[in-house]
Amino acid sequence: MSARLVGLVGAAVLLLASAATVGDGAAVAPPIPAAFDAKSAYEVIRMDDAVTLVVSRGGKQGRVRLAGLIDPAPQSVQSCQAFAANLLAGELVALEFVEDKDTPERSAYVFRGPDGLFANVELIRAGYGAPSSDKHAHLALFRSYADRAQRLKKGLYADAAPPAGAAADTDDVTIAPGETVVYSTRTGQRYHKADCEHLKKSRKAIPLKEAKKRGLTPCNSCDPPK
Ligand SMILES: [Zn+2]
Repeated sequence: MSARLVGLVGAAVLLLASAATVGDGAAVAPPIPAAFDAKSAYEVIRMDDAVTLVVSRGGKQGRVRLAGLIDPAPQSVQSCQAFAANLLAGELVALEFVEDKDTPERSAYVFRGPDGLFANVELIRAGYGAPSSDKHAHLALFRSYADRAQRLKKGLYADAAPPAGAAADTDDVTIAPGETVVYSTRTGQRYHKADCEHLKKSRKAIPLKEAKKRGLTPCNSCDPPK
């Protein structure tokens, strides 16, 4: 099959998917495939940062920014750049330039050849890119995938620390499902119910059995299980 025909088949598949929904059903526009043509493709030399490609064509090098993506937070740049480099470095890409007056660099929708992968979306979908709020043709699609990545804890969202105080400090004890749990403090000789006022400074979950074994005695004010 010729490259041109592959491109056309790809376009047809994407047209069929035009009513596609993402995640919870937010209707989105389909990505527009750039019919992949190796002659007009750019070679990706490397990622210069998390959202900027160094590309080459006809012996000339230039930089191009992934349209619709913001710079990641400083602590995330390395992981985002590594993910983008895995997708794109050394590959041929088709570029669809996007009007963007806010940046001196040219921005583009980047389609990897020969599979037509929409790289801008892929970074967001996998949780290694965040959409900008600037208006562009695929803003709704980008946002929809960003929400989904967050919900499914993909990529960087997986590393997000649980909210502080969500879990009690369990020390070195194992708590079996269904086991009666009481709470002790770091230094006290009593054990308590979860909401006891004596647990304000420290709170460790501990099986009732273990509390007794350690010689802790029930608190007088909260009346924990005995
Ligand atoms: Zn108590």
